[in-house]
Amino acid sequence: MKTRDGLISLVIFCSCILLASTALAGESGTVSCTKPGCGYHTNLSIGGGRRSPSVTGYCAKQKKFVRIKIKSWEDYRKPHYCPGGKERLQPIYSGSEVARIPCPKCGNLSLRYQRRLMFD
Ligand SMILES: [Zn+2]
Ligand SMILES: [Zn+2]
Repeated sequence: MKTRDGLISLVIFCSCILLASTALAGESGTVSCTKPGCGYHTNLSIGGGRRSPSVTGYCAKQKKFVRIKIKSWEDYRKPHYCPGGKERLQPIYSGSEVARIPCPKCGNLSLRYQRRLMFD
């Protein structure tokens, strides 16, 4: 059953790559509001480094982005809660998800994320 073993290791290999690309690296950039006259602007890091697992989310109650340290990367996709008021965070796993968050200043869906660097 040599082919079958080969297939299994291929599947394991692929899922490792997939996991690595979704979780084991972080990125850093800026969030800015595109609504004229608003001017909201903030730095944002998404995720964390290989040895410092972190998850980024948005707290709708406090209207701010929060980044919390997690024990391991296995917890990355689990629900996370704001350290301030223990409310559920809206997770941000990629820069494109920033567009779904209303601007903390003007309330419009006009936020744009620009990546500056990747880290691991
Ligand atoms: Zn909060
Ligand atoms: Zn705005």
